[in-house]
Amino acid sequence: MKNRHIPFNIPPITGNEEAYMRLAIGNHKICGDGPFTQQCCQWLEAQTRTTKALLTSSCTHALEMCALLANIQAGDEVIMPSYTFVSTANAFVLRGARIVFADIRPDTMNIDESLIEAAISPETKAVVPVHYAGIGCEMDPIKDIAVKYGLLVIEDAAQGIMAEYRGKALGSIGDLGCYSFHETKNCGMGEGGALLIQSDRYVERAEIIREKGTDRSRFLRGQTDKYSWVDLGSSYLPGDLSAAFLLAQLENAGRINENRLTSYRRYEQGLADLQIQGKIDLPFIPPHCRHNAHMFYIKTRDLQERTNLIAFLKERHITAAFHYVPLHSSPAGKRYGVFRGQDKYTTRESERLVRLPMYFGLQEEDIDCVVETVYDFYRRTCL
Ligand SMILES: *Cc1c(COP(=O)(O)O)cnc(C)c1O
Repeated sequence: MKNRHIPFNIPPITGNEEAYMRLAIGNHKICGDGPFTQQCCQWLEAQTRTTKALLTSSCTHALEMCALLANIQAGDEVIMPSYTFVSTANAFVLRGARIVFADIRPDTMNIDESLIEAAISPETKAVVPVHYAGIGCEMDPIKDIAVKYGLLVIEDAAQGIMAEYRGKALGSIGDLGCYSFHETKNCGMGEGGALLIQSDRYVERAEIIREKGTDRSRFLRGQTDKYSWVDLGSSYLPGDLSAAFLLAQLENAGRINENRLTSYRRYEQGLADLQIQGKIDLPFIPPHCRHNAHMFYIKTRDLQERTNLIAFLKERHITAAFHYVPLHSSPAGKRYGVFRGQDKYTTRESERLVRLPMYFGLQEEDIDCVVETVYDFYRRTCL
């Protein structure tokens, strides 16, 4: 029997996107920092309880701003997991940093906080925890280490909107935090992101960096009578049309989150037996973390089994996806980084992981179909 195609992701539409974009057009103000951008920033500041949120053109750009704010210089070292998106590393390599990769924990796929201290050298300037799948890294011990060695903590919370670690919003716990609003994330604007700033002392310089290295933001607030080039910078602000689209989604972030969590639980319950049988591993959520169902993944026995499972699902019109190839094994990762310590889990666990379809509005019967097809795969491979 031929079932209809179940895609891996469908970007959410919550209802007000078009109306808000029409309002932005009517405002005759569609460049950056218009009224919709301001409302998005206010929403983010209230939701995450951060001092300052700045909307950016991407999470990649928010990370680049962090590298500038951290004054990263040639030869500085930045510690992060190898199991992450290229932008986590690239942002710092652009400033001349050498990336030091530390191993991950097999249960959450996040950087193993107990290995960070051994990866520190006199050149280390920052540590970049990545909250994989919207599940928080162990921020308390990470912050303790950072304080002890005088390092900056920059959170890659690209996948972390609406998720928490010990009651604090992901992205609001370190010195600086970065969100992504790419269409593949839980809330989006096509391309976009945000920088969250905890301490007042970074706010003014962040505004300058984002506005091409000028003090235009102060000028617009009437705090200076002209604006000029005062620092390094680039153009890191999105247009207000994109912000209008995003605001519609942020206002519905609670609804998106609940819907995704419901889908997540249905997968979890549906696949529990396969885990009990020892065929697959399901994701682990530490009890003090509130996640956002950014993804639902399972782990197969090994790479070969994963390749077979993805092909099996594809034949049955279900798109499943593997994820990051560890950066330390990629051509640029070898050139700009080094793995410090033993790669006990990064390569092995990344080869086992497969992400199942997950998006706002995913139908219950489609989840059941995916679950049934995964069972079917294991029934056949075990004959
Ligand atoms: C999506 C993602 C990014 C990049 O986000 P963009 O907004 O596309 O630049 C960076 N890091 C992680 C962990 C991501 O998932």
